[in-house]
Amino acid sequence: MSSHNHQHAHTIADDIAEKTFQDVSLCYQCGKCSAGCPVRYYMDIAPNKVVRLIQLGFYEEALKSETPWLCAGCQTCSTRCPQEFDLAKFMDAVRELALEKGVEIKHKDILKFHEAFLNQIKRFGRSYEIGLIAEYKMKTMHLMQDVDSGPDMFMKGLLEVIPHKMKDKKSVKDIFKKTAKK
Ligand code: SF4
Ligand code: SF4
Repeated sequence: MSSHNHQHAHTIADDIAEKTFQDVSLCYQCGKCSAGCPVRYYMDIAPNKVVRLIQLGFYEEALKSETPWLCAGCQTCSTRCPQEFDLAKFMDAVRELALEKGVEIKHKDILKFHEAFLNQIKRFGRSYEIGLIAEYKMKTMHLMQDVDSGPDMFMKGLLEVIPHKMKDKKSVKDIFKKTAKK
C-alpha cells in the first residue's frame, strides 16, 4: 500500500486518485474482482494485479499492460468489491494515463481495437447483460488478430458480431457525453 505524506512527489497513483476520486490503497487484494471478470482469461495481468502494481509503484508495468484495453467496462468487478473500489473506473483512468504519458502499448492493434469498440457502442448502444459486452469485445479482438486485415474486413467482422438490437441506447449516450468531457 502506498503511504501518503505531504512531501511526496506527485505520482501516477495520485493521478489515478484525482481521476477516479478514490485511493488505490482501498484495495486489499482479495481478488473477488478478477474472479468474476468475464475477460480475465484474455488479459496479460489480472485486474486486481494491475491495482497492485500501482500500489507498489510499478507504474510502467501497469500502464503497459493490455488489461485496461481489454477491459470491457462491464462493472462486474466494481459491483463485487467489498471495499467499494470502482475498478472499472480505475481501468478508465489507467488507459487515459497511458495515452497522456505516451506509453508504448505492446500490441499496436489493441488501441485501434479499443477505439473501434467504443465507436460501436456509441452507434449501437450497450447492453449491460453481464458477459455480453466482454464476449463481443473478445470476438472482435480475435477477428483482428486472425485476419490481420484492412479496415473493411475489420468492420465487416464487427458488424457480424454486433447484436441487432441493443438496449439502453439512451443511457449509453449519456455515459459518452460524460466521458467525452474528460
Ligand atoms: S474486489 Fe476490490 S478489494 Fe478485492 S482485489 Fe478487487 S478491487 Fe481489490
Ligand atoms: S469492468 Fe473490466 S475489469 Fe471489471 S469485470 Fe468488467 S471487464 Fe473485468
